Amino acid sequence: MALIVHKYGGTSMGSTDRIKNVARRVAKWHAAGHQMVVVPSAMSGETNRLIALAKEIQAQPDPRELDAIACTGEQVSVGLLAMALKALGLDAVSYAGWQVPIRTDSAFTKARIESIDDVRVRADLDAGRVVIITGFQGMDPNGNVTTLGRGGSDTSAVAVAAAMKAQECLIYTDVDGVYTTDPRIVEDARRLKVVSFEEMLEMASLGSKVLQIRSVEFAGKYRVPTRVLSSLTDPMISLDEEMISGTLITFEEDENMEQAVVSGIAFNRDEAKVTVRGVPDRPGIAYSILGKIADANIDVDMIIQNQGSDGTTDFSFTVHRNELQKTLDVLNTQVKPAVNAREVTGDANVCKVSIVGIGMRSHVGIASQMFKTLSEEGINIQMISTSEIKVSVIIEDKYMELAVRALHRAFGLEKAA
Ligand code: ADP
Ligand code: ASP
Ligand code: MG
Repeated sequence: MALIVHKYGGTSMGSTDRIKNVARRVAKWHAAGHQMVVVPSAMSGETNRLIALAKEIQAQPDPRELDAIACTGEQVSVGLLAMALKALGLDAVSYAGWQVPIRTDSAFTKARIESIDDVRVRADLDAGRVVIITGFQGMDPNGNVTTLGRGGSDTSAVAVAAAMKAQECLIYTDVDGVYTTDPRIVEDARRLKVVSFEEMLEMASLGSKVLQIRSVEFAGKYRVPTRVLSSLTDPMISLDEEMISGTLITFEEDENMEQAVVSGIAFNRDEAKVTVRGVPDRPGIAYSILGKIADANIDVDMIIQNQGSDGTTDFSFTVHRNELQKTLDVLNTQVKPAVNAREVTGDANVCKVSIVGIGMRSHVGIASQMFKTLSEEGINIQMISTSEIKVSVIIEDKYMELAVRALHRAFGLEKAA
């Protein structure tokens, strides 16, 4: 008998029929003798609907109240799933994050999990109950409800699995695993049977929303065996069949790993580029600009500085598109007058495309192959950043799909014919 955590995403919970299927699948695992903790998301579209409602009242919603609203989709899901399990004759109990409790910091809308108290959950499991815990939710030190950022139910599930030392964390979603790139963009994307933790971390951080990045961080830190698999298969297929399906995140590189140099292509449309032009080229200028951005709690991604010949320089960086206006406000009011810059501009029509693979460590020429592929498609590269296992470029966003498809082909990632 093992403790298993299942996570079901929005599409998997998208209708009462789908919830009944989730219940049948969980019941099957329970009948095989496992202790089951289930972490569902809100029904698909629900979190978007709630956030849109909030924005109808307040264009920039109060973060505490936004979390109070956004977390309710998961509240509905846990109750419905508990009822569906009871209807199958199982004993089940649902909990909100604060009831467990899942403790977080107070960063509303992007809170981080600090600890999980498992006493109550263990008592239920020992009494034979299936425990269902809301994804996405936590409670801060003052008893406020918090949420973990979009896609945060993945993190709830892996964190619960880590805290309770579960044998497996199974992330059920609407695709049957992690692919070489988003299968919605590239039809012949290929499912990876295994993906290394480091590659998954890069892919998640570079925009592959199949797993929230913090869930991958938890999986790595606590070595949680984590598998991404489909919730849309027949719920009654055998456990053995389920345990070899999907994509397993591995922590050791071994001979079973697929040997591709580039394992995947990630992309992110949530980028915006800002440029501060004509700033004096002297020590401390980067700090004068980025220090103010950090003070405003804005995350900066890529940075580039171009030296001019006239003793001035242009300084560009990217931020989340939602924070473009806030960034421009800070630059225009606090930075431009202080550093005597000529001009501040913003561009929301950019995106980031990245190639990821641990094989890049031992191969040269991968970045240049990427640049060649993009140039053959007539795509201009605006910014570049590299690490040991990835190369990212910022390009105009209208070329995003073209770039992803061309790179997918150039690095031989498509399914075998
Ligand atoms: P859930 O609601 O189950 O959490 P998400 O929509 O958050 O599901 O994540 C699953 C989606 O992630 C897929 O439908 C797919 O479009 C997208 N996706 C992006 N990149 C990848 C990838 N490399 N492999 C698989 N899916 C990906
Ligand atoms: N319901 C939340 C969201 O839509 C959390 C999740 O689905 O993981 O972002
Ligand atoms: Mg998700």
